[in-house]
Amino acid sequence: MRQPVRILGKKTAILLVLSVMGMLVLSVLWQGSAAVISHSAEGHVVMLDPGHGGYDPGAITAQGVYEKSINLEIAQKVKEMLVPSGIAVFLTREEDIDYAPDGVKGKTTKKQIDLNRRIEMANEAKADVFVSLHVNATATGQNSGAETFYHYKSESGKELAELIQQELIKIPGMNRRIAKPGDFYVTKNTSMPGVIVEVGYLSSLKEQKKLQQSWYQEQLARAIAKGIANYLNLP
Ligand SMILES: [Zn+2]
Repeated sequence: MRQPVRILGKKTAILLVLSVMGMLVLSVLWQGSAAVISHSAEGHVVMLDPGHGGYDPGAITAQGVYEKSINLEIAQKVKEMLVPSGIAVFLTREEDIDYAPDGVKGKTTKKQIDLNRRIEMANEAKADVFVSLHVNATATGQNSGAETFYHYKSESGKELAELIQQELIKIPGMNRRIAKPGDFYVTKNTSMPGVIVEVGYLSSLKEQKKLQQSWYQEQLARAIAKGIANYLNLP
């Protein structure tokens, strides 16, 4: 603030000082309900969930491409794009890890513990939205393109999914899928609107190449970030 004051007129400078004083008084008055105020004043909380990680690679291709790595790379890019808008952005994992403790046996149990921790993180952070990132794969290799899923009972989840999907289909060459309902464990158990974004198909050779490239990951990340920002009514 110091720089601009020097080039402003006296009146403006006085007004500035008065408004700063006013803000100080208001902030003192508001301290009583600090928890509530800080949430609305500092803006929104977004929990991004890079799917899989650690023991669980997600989809793997014959060429040795791991879904878990692509999920994380894109999540980090989405975060970078949202942070400048003043949004508090968290990732359920920042590195190649899972939340199943050592010694836990059984794929289903491990998966369950891992997902429960991610859901808990979103609920604890009181996130406004939960966005889980994945890459799809099929046996035939014929499908391609991004698609967004929401829990079939969640109206706000549907709205968030549609806003993200709307941006994803603007990416050049993207096929025009629509957001779809489903009954997924994470979107069912998070207490805020949640979606699953399948950013593309690793089973499509053409898409697999793009999905590993930074410029394409950035296009996907920008679409997801824009969709989230639109849902939160941010410019
Ligand atoms: Zn996945």
